Amino acid sequence: MLSRSIRTGESTSRKSRRITEHDSTDSVAARAAERVPPRATLAAVSRAASTCRACELWKAATQTVFGEGSTKAQVMLVGEQPGDQEDRMGRPFVGPAGRLLDQALAEAEIERSEVYVTNVVKHFKWAPAERGKRRIHKKPRYSEIQACRPWLDAELERVKPEVLVCLGASAAQALLGKDFRVSRQRGQLIQSPLAPHVIATVHPSSILRAQDDESRHQQLEAFVQDLRQVARALKRSVH
Ligand code: SF4
Repeated sequence: MLSRSIRTGESTSRKSRRITEHDSTDSVAARAAERVPPRATLAAVSRAASTCRACELWKAATQTVFGEGSTKAQVMLVGEQPGDQEDRMGRPFVGPAGRLLDQALAEAEIERSEVYVTNVVKHFKWAPAERGKRRIHKKPRYSEIQACRPWLDAELERVKPEVLVCLGASAAQALLGKDFRVSRQRGQLIQSPLAPHVIATVHPSSILRAQDDESRHQQLEAFVQDLRQVARALKRSVH
C-alpha cells in the first residue's frame, strides 16, 4: 500500500516529526521504507527518494542523489555516498572518483551502459573545512546507512543485477556484514542472496588519495584487475 504522504501529496516537512538522536536505527529505516512506493518503477522510486527526510543527512545536503542507469543493467556498482560534485549535480559518480571509475571500467572492457551506479547513502554528509569553503566528506554512521537501506533495496529489487560490486568498506560492510574486510577479500566472488555474483573492491576515491604517482598507478591497476573479475563473472552469467 502506498504510504500516506505519497497518496495525499502531504508536504514532507509538515508531516515529518523531529528526528532525534534517540530514535532507533530500525525506526529511522522504517521511515524511509514507508516512503518507498511498492511496485512502482525505478523512476517513481527515485522521485519519492527526492523528498526523503528519514534521517538528518538531508539537512546539510543540496539534494538526494539517487542511482543512475538502466533497469536492464547487468552490473550494479554501489559506493558509500555522493561527494561534493555529485551533491551539486544530483548525479552519482560524476566527480573525480567517477571519472576514474569510468577509466577503470573502460580498461576492464565493461560497457558503461551495462552498469547501474548508486550509493548506500543518498545524501552527502560533510563538514566545513577549517580554512576556506571546501566541504569535507564525513563517513556516514552505521545508523545512517541502515536508515537509507530501503532505497538501496528498492534499486536492487528493480535492477536485479547479475553482478553486484561493492566499492569500498562502507558499501561492503553494509551489504556483506560488519566483519567484511575489503583489504582481505577484494576481488573474490562472495556468496550472497543479493545477486548471483557479488564482489567487493576499493572505492575509486581511495586511489585518488594515493601518496604518489607510482602507488596511484599500482592501486589503479589492482582496481582494474578486480573489475576484470567482474567482467569474467558477467560473461559466465550471460553464456
Ligand atoms: S540519507 Fe537516505 S534515509 Fe537519510 S534523508 Fe537521505 S535519502 Fe533519506
